[in-house]
Amino acid sequence: MTTARSTDGAFEYSGEVEPYGNFSMSPAAHVLHYGSAIFEGMKAHRQVDGSLAIFRLDDHVARMRQSAAKLRLPVPDAELVRRMIIDACEANVSEVPDPPGSLYVRPTLIGTEPNIGAAATPSKEALLYIVNCPVGDYFKGGVRPLTLLVEDSIPRTTPQFGMVKSGANYAMALAPTLDAMAANEAIDQILFATGGDVTETGAANFFMTDDDRLVTRNLDASFLHGVTRSSIITLAAEVEERAISVEELVVWADHGEAFLSGTAAVVSPVGTLLIDGEQVQLAGGAGPDSNSMRLRQALADIQTGHAPDPYGWRTPVKG
Ligand code: PLP
Repeated sequence: MTTARSTDGAFEYSGEVEPYGNFSMSPAAHVLHYGSAIFEGMKAHRQVDGSLAIFRLDDHVARMRQSAAKLRLPVPDAELVRRMIIDACEANVSEVPDPPGSLYVRPTLIGTEPNIGAAATPSKEALLYIVNCPVGDYFKGGVRPLTLLVEDSIPRTTPQFGMVKSGANYAMALAPTLDAMAANEAIDQILFATGGDVTETGAANFFMTDDDRLVTRNLDASFLHGVTRSSIITLAAEVEERAISVEELVVWADHGEAFLSGTAAVVSPVGTLLIDGEQVQLAGGAGPDSNSMRLRQALADIQTGHAPDPYGWRTPVKG
């Protein structure tokens, strides 16, 4: 792991990679009381030539800096975060499994100022650290059509905060997700569609597709601006970015496909929607020839060096 601390807004990084281990911090640390925690999630992929490359490193660094600013945490320089991520990956090159496995990279930034009276004060002291671990498929049972519960009453988080990758957003989504899964073990994810407006699931963005079109929700502050989402939009010739209603989704299911996109989900086809107790099947299917699976392959080929990298998305890591 790599770590850097800030006492007055400026981060100090020794340049040394340390063994993975515990931290010590004050019981009054800001993060433990007022939730000043943000993070990122990206992957380094083993390339076809045996080397290692991080996928869209700069985009993840940019989103992390944006999240830090939203929580009024000290914002680390992009070059520093970049260096710390590359150093941490270099130190773990031998741990990276072959595709479809990869090295998951988790940069984290927390407010460490010891002040229990700081509810309305930002933390000037902060700890930035990068850990990583080998990963395989995110969903139990590998790539298979997922079942989503469409939730139209409870939002995932507060609307102005959905675009921030902060621990608090995941804490808020946890109870409704666990309750839904306890009631029906077939549910893989909740698709949040407050008031009928389809946004994202607890860990991925949402797309509809068929042989002619790709449709996904237009960006606003209410949901996470996925790097995978943006990659798919770049790869596809044309994408409609606009509101999607639950009613439209039901009609779409008669002929089309749907999928989730994310660093963990990659592109994961959706097979079934549960809407108000009714099961709605996606008639477009999720087989190897589906549009969803073809997009998954196109993305994976760039990530793993099987296809050229015209957009400069791969950052090489020395072995
Ligand atoms: N939405 C949420 C809530 C997420 O946690 C993630 C996860 O990473 C995504 C969307 C997808 O974002 P990305 O493609 O950058 O991984």
